[in-house]
Amino acid sequence: MSSVLVIDDSKLFRKQIADALRKALLFDDYREAEDGLEGFKIFSDSKPDLVICDLEMPHMDGLKFLQLKSVRQDLQDIPIILLTSTQDRLAKLKSLEQGASDYLTKPFDAAELVARVRIHLKMKKLQDELKAANEHFKQLSTVDPLTNLYNRRFLTETLENEIQRAKRLQSNLSLLIFDIDHFKQINDVYGHQAGDKVLVAVADALRETLRTYDIASRYGGEEFVLVLPGTPLAGGQIVAERLRKAVHALRFPIPMDRIKVTVSAGLATFPTKRIADFDTLFRYADEALYRAKKNGRNRVEIMLGNMNSELKST
Ligand SMILES: [Mg+2]
Repeated sequence: MSSVLVIDDSKLFRKQIADALRKALLFDDYREAEDGLEGFKIFSDSKPDLVICDLEMPHMDGLKFLQLKSVRQDLQDIPIILLTSTQDRLAKLKSLEQGASDYLTKPFDAAELVARVRIHLKMKKLQDELKAANEHFKQLSTVDPLTNLYNRRFLTETLENEIQRAKRLQSNLSLLIFDIDHFKQINDVYGHQAGDKVLVAVADALRETLRTYDIASRYGGEEFVLVLPGTPLAGGQIVAERLRKAVHALRFPIPMDRIKVTVSAGLATFPTKRIADFDTLFRYADEALYRAKKNGRNRVEIMLGNMNSELKST
């Protein structure tokens, strides 16, 4: 179903345009309006595939129509072809500047109108397809582009699966949440590019500490989450300490040579009496991270509580 909206104060022109488009079989649905105000209402309600709009109209003219459109994000991609009876070059340029896709001078040639409409419909279709493809790839993407670690979406999905697997195998699973201490200061003092370099360096250090079956992700900003399957609390602590030391040993070239990067980490293990699912596991690790911050940073804290039901390492 494709639709077009024709806005013109002249009934004659509206009819001529509709006739030309009908003959070319370009649209299934035709709508008309007599001025910009009425036209804009139909435009924003029905979101047609293309609009043909007169420049000179009473009440609200074509330029005003374009202005209204420009503030509406949801209407940005709909092409507008302006019709003008003026030979004024500036008015035409202005309409293009204001966001018109194209213009035609009245009296228009029906074949030219149809040809231009075809081009703009085709461009819109390609644009829509590109957008959908981008959206699709975004959805499929599992990797954080800066650090090449897994992203938050992947981590969330995987952690759920890993917990199910740990339940099935009756094995432990440890979760380590850590973040870079005073990261905002690095960004503020050295700029975001330096901040990005620090994130990449920390991610590299993290990769070196990993065992093959561990899953590391950049959870957001300067926060990282590490899933350690088959790992009880003590094993998780070893990994966490190794990571903390590796980050502490990082050095950067001038002008970042005075940056000392440290991380604070919180560790929790599944299953215990209190931790039976994803949410609790995450909460306990997060709470431990909070204590690591409070107790002076550059340290690892483990979850509080009774660990009696913790299973043996697998
Ligand atoms: Mg007019």
